[in-house]
Amino acid sequence: MTEIPLDAIGEAAFVTDADFRVVDCNARAIDLFRAPSREALLGLDAADFPNDHDLSAEFPTYLRERLTAVPFVVLENHVKRLDGSTFVSETILHRLADGRVFVTLRDVSVRVESLHRLEEANERLRAAVRDRTEFVSNVSHELRTPLTSMSYALTNMTRGLCGPLPDKAKDYVGRLQVDVKRLLTTVNDILDLRQMENGTLTLRKSCVPLTKLFGEVVDSLSIQAQTKRQTLTLAPAPKEIYAEADRHKIERVCFNILSNAIKYTPEGGAIAVSVTEQDGQALLRVDDNGIGIPPEALPRVSQRYFRVGDQVTGTGLGLSIVREIVTLHGGNLHIESPVPGTDCGTRVTATLPTCPGPLQVIVSGDDDLIAEVTQAAEAVGLSVRVDREAIDVPKGCEGVTPARFLLDGSLPESYLGDLVCQIRGDARLAPTPILILSPGMEPSRRAEYGRMRVEVRPWPLAPDALRTILRD
Ligand code: ATP
Ligand code: MG
Repeated sequence: MTEIPLDAIGEAAFVTDADFRVVDCNARAIDLFRAPSREALLGLDAADFPNDHDLSAEFPTYLRERLTAVPFVVLENHVKRLDGSTFVSETILHRLADGRVFVTLRDVSVRVESLHRLEEANERLRAAVRDRTEFVSNVSHELRTPLTSMSYALTNMTRGLCGPLPDKAKDYVGRLQVDVKRLLTTVNDILDLRQMENGTLTLRKSCVPLTKLFGEVVDSLSIQAQTKRQTLTLAPAPKEIYAEADRHKIERVCFNILSNAIKYTPEGGAIAVSVTEQDGQALLRVDDNGIGIPPEALPRVSQRYFRVGDQVTGTGLGLSIVREIVTLHGGNLHIESPVPGTDCGTRVTATLPTCPGPLQVIVSGDDDLIAEVTQAAEAVGLSVRVDREAIDVPKGCEGVTPARFLLDGSLPESYLGDLVCQIRGDARLAPTPILILSPGMEPSRRAEYGRMRVEVRPWPLAPDALRTILRD
C-alpha cells in the first residue's frame, strides 16, 4: 500500500511506534499542539494525550490494551497542548498492520461548547415553561372557586329561586351560564393537564349512564346552538349505555367535543349527537356540517395548544384534554373530516369500554314477574340478578353492589317487611333504593314503607311504564 503523506491529511495526524511513542506528525499537529517544531512532538506518548480529570491514571494502560483487542478506538476527550492549554478533541487511534499506531485529533471545542450552551438554553426554556404552567395553574385554581359559585348562583336564578325573572333577564342569565360553564371547563382542563403532567390525576369511577350524561351536556349547550340558529339533535337511544368512568371527566369530554362543533359550525348549521354501542365499546359521536379540518391538520388537532389557522379564538387545549381523558379510561379518540359519506364538516368519536348497567336485584318466586321485570330492565341497559328465596339479603349480596332492589309485593307480608328491614339495617346496602311491585297494598302499610324510603308501585304494569320507572 502506498503511504499517504501526513501533510495531505486535513486533521492533526501522528504516527507512533508500537509503544505509542510519536515518530512522525504533520503540520496541522504542530499547529494544534502549539509546538515550536516537529521535533518538540517526537517521542511524546500518544496514550498520554487524553487529559481528562475524570479519566483514571490507568487510562493510558487501558488504551494500549484496548488497541490490541480492537483495530481502532474513538475518544472525545480533553487534550493538553505543549503550552499547557487544553482543547476538546475527537481522537481516533488506529493500529496499523505493522504494529505502528496512526492517531488523528480534531479540535471539537466549539461544537462541544455550543452543545453545552444549547443544553443550558434548553434548561432555561424548560424552567420558563414550568414557571408559566405553574402560574397558569395557580391562576386557574384561584378562578375555580368563584366561577363555581357564579355557576351555582346562575343555576338557582334559572330555577326561579330568586323569584320569576323577566324574559330579558332570563336570556342574559342563560348566556352568562354558558360563558361561566365554558370558563370553568377551560380552568378545569388546565388543572387536569397539570395533574396529568405530574401523573397525579386520579379518576373517581362509577357506573355512568352515557346517553343521559351527553343529553345533559346537549341541554346545557342548546342555548349556544340556538343563538347561532343551529339544529342540535341527540339521537334517541332505546337503551342506556354505561361505562365505568369518572362522571365529571366524561362530562368534559362531551362538553369539549360538542362546544367545538358549535364553535366551528357557521350560523344555521346542523350538529348531530349520538351515543351507540358496538363490540363492547360505547361510541360518543358528534357530527357537524361546519368548516371542517384540513387533512394536513387532522393528525395535530388533538395536540396541546394546536389550532387550525386563526379562525376562532380558543386555547387549543380542548381536544388534547379529551384525548388524554379518553385514553386514561382505556378508550380512543377518532377525528374525521369531512364527515364520512358527506363533503363537509367534522366527525369526532370518543370510544369508551362499556360496563354492565347498574344491578337490579329482583326478589321474587313468580316466574312471570321475574321474566317481565328482567326483560324491561335489560331493554333499558340495566343488569339483573334474581334471588328466588332470599333469606339473608346482605349475605346474598356479598361481592356485588346492587343499584336497586325490586321486591315482589305478593310475598307474605311479614317476609316482605323482614327483607326491607334487612336491607335498611345493613350499613352497605341501607342507601339502596327499594321498589315494591305490589298487586295491592293497604294505604297505612304503604305509608309505613314510605317512611323507610321504599317506593310502592302497582303490579302488573304496562311494559312501557315499567321501563320508564326502571330508567329513572
Ligand atoms: P379550547 O381549548 O377553547 O377548546 P380550541 O377549540 O381552539 O380551544 P381544541 O378544542 O383543542 O382547541 O381544538 C383544536 C383545533 O381543532 C381548533 O382550534 C379547531 O381549529 C380544530 N377543530 C376542533 N374541532 C373542530 C370542529 N368540530 N370543526 C372544525 N375544526 C375543529
Ligand atoms: Mg375546543
